[in-house]
Amino acid sequence: MMIPFNKPYMTGDELYYIKDAVARGKISGNGYYTKKCHEYFVQNVGFKNCLLTSSCTDALEMAAILVNIQPGDEVIMPSYTFVSTANAFVLRGAKVVFADSYHNNPNINADTLEGLITNQTKAIIVVHYAGVACDMDKIMGIANKYDLFVIEDAAQAIDSYYKNKPLGSIGHLAAFSFHETKNIIAGEGGMLVVNDDFFEKRAEIIWEKGTNRSAFFRGEVDKYSWVDIGSSFLPSDVTAAFLYAQLENLEKIQSRRKHLWNGYKDGFQQLALDGLLKLPYIPEYATTNGHLFYLICDSIEQRSQLISFLKDYGIQCVFHYLSLHKSPFYQRENKPKILKNSDNFANCLLRLPLYYELDMEDQRKIISLINDFFNKR
Ligand SMILES: *Cc1c(COP(=O)(O)O)cnc(C)c1O
Repeated sequence: MMIPFNKPYMTGDELYYIKDAVARGKISGNGYYTKKCHEYFVQNVGFKNCLLTSSCTDALEMAAILVNIQPGDEVIMPSYTFVSTANAFVLRGAKVVFADSYHNNPNINADTLEGLITNQTKAIIVVHYAGVACDMDKIMGIANKYDLFVIEDAAQAIDSYYKNKPLGSIGHLAAFSFHETKNIIAGEGGMLVVNDDFFEKRAEIIWEKGTNRSAFFRGEVDKYSWVDIGSSFLPSDVTAAFLYAQLENLEKIQSRRKHLWNGYKDGFQQLALDGLLKLPYIPEYATTNGHLFYLICDSIEQRSQLISFLKDYGIQCVFHYLSLHKSPFYQRENKPKILKNSDNFANCLLRLPLYYELDMEDQRKIISLINDFFNKR
């Protein structure tokens, strides 16, 4: 039996809500289930203002429009991230300035930020890798001092916290993902969270193709017109209905995922104590949300051996990002840059299977095989 790296979990309620959405007869964007999802996040998480999008990539693109990125503006972000974090800003003409990770944590090293700020800097984009919070007090402090925007790429960060504040509620704007590889899914899906009231009205306009259609439906204007740039960032209400079924099961999904995460942590504690591998470092201010569990190997060679060793037992483990500062796209236009922690995670980080339906016996097998692998060397 194969143990895949990921298996999207269906709660069983998705079709019920999709059928209801269809029966309601309005399945375009901003319908009944879209509003139900917005309400869920406002009431249960405490976000001020949410807009579902078709992806986290879309939400990041909205953020780039909202902070008014102009050609030549600089944005600081970690090199160890997904391409969309960068692309959303590059599409608006921004120059991306990559920061390194911490040596023991893939998140952006807040102590390096001030050295990267210039007169052109407009925003800092932080990524809460594996759902583990960045050092937000430090980052917001720097942003305030230099008058910069902070955008949280919270794609992996649902149900995770920084000093008891939900991730996604701290920066000026935040972007979530409901892609099928995340904790809560909609196939493809995302959400923009607007924390700064300054952006509230314009966000809704950009979301609705640059029109004031939402205000029109609330009766605030008597006709709707083209008032700004924008695009079709809203998902269909069918997608929102699927998402709503998942949100109703958030606690159940999260408790299972966190249980599995802790199982891995306990299972590798001895290897870490013996110095044979490194485990995720969770700062005191952060929580884990069971999004992903990773190990840090000694070298890319050791990681490749471990991947093929596990593959022989039908277990699929995968590495993660390649540093964006080493990408062909970036290197074509920019001078080489050395970010050694980012490269170290690109070379040595390995993600293990973690999904709702992973059973305990399979997890025990993975843990025991990995222990054998490291103890034999
Ligand atoms: C998944 C992910 C994205 C992209 O999300 P989509 O919903 O697929 O657009 C962006 N950033 C990070 C850090 C991610 O993990």
